[in-house]
Amino acid sequence: MAEYLASIFGTEKDKVNCSFYFKIGACRHGDRCSRLHNKPTFSQTIALLNIYRNPQNTAQSADGINAVSDVEMQEHYDEFFEEVFTEMEEKYGEVEEMNVCDNLGDHLVGNVYVKFRREEDAEKAVINLNNRWFNGQPIHAELSPVTDFREACCRQYEMGECTRGGFCNFMHLKPISRELRRELYGRRRKRHRSRSRSRERRSRSRERNRGGGGGGGGGRERERRRSRDRERSGRF
Ligand SMILES: [Zn+2]
Ligand SMILES: [Zn+2]
Repeated sequence: MAEYLASIFGTEKDKVNCSFYFKIGACRHGDRCSRLHNKPTFSQTIALLNIYRNPQNTAQSADGINAVSDVEMQEHYDEFFEEVFTEMEEKYGEVEEMNVCDNLGDHLVGNVYVKFRREEDAEKAVINLNNRWFNGQPIHAELSPVTDFREACCRQYEMGECTRGGFCNFMHLKPISRELRRELYGRRRKRHRSRSRSRERRSRSRERNRGGGGGGGGGRERERRRSRDRERSGRF
């Protein structure tokens, strides 16, 4: 029985724990959800709620045409991403991955998820950021249960096929430009290379396990995900 409960934890079959909160760190029912939102007491990942503002969603001219071009929007987004990413690394510690939601639903719009390498850095960041303001608004930061963004994001969106649009309940992760990706994540590879060779080897194997559920999940978690991936990809 206990094993069965463990196997359905956080899935749709789980009648106690909310699968959306567990996977995505946000659920459209918020505090009124009939299922439990288990807030983590420690996590590598933090969520900054509703912090990114897509200028294309706010600036529309009278004739309904976007006043902000795609190029301008991407530049604005890259700037935002770089600013936040750099500040997280400089102030709190090494960032493994950062993602921004382009959803429109209240519980996901503009959410930024930062996954640190160390849980202590995530904790420090949450405490500090909750006393800060961004763009004239107080920042709301919290530890997030999300460790695996491949589970949380919408595959259809990545293929440009999500029919639910901005109100989809899975993360629509907005891509940064290729140049910025190379700059932010490539810089790290350079840093690793300058370390000792054994360190480098270790970091490379970590790279391969990237997205391994925060390291604690082990092989079974990976296997479960792989079979789920197979299920999902069969749908397309
Ligand atoms: Zn919920
Ligand atoms: Zn979607």
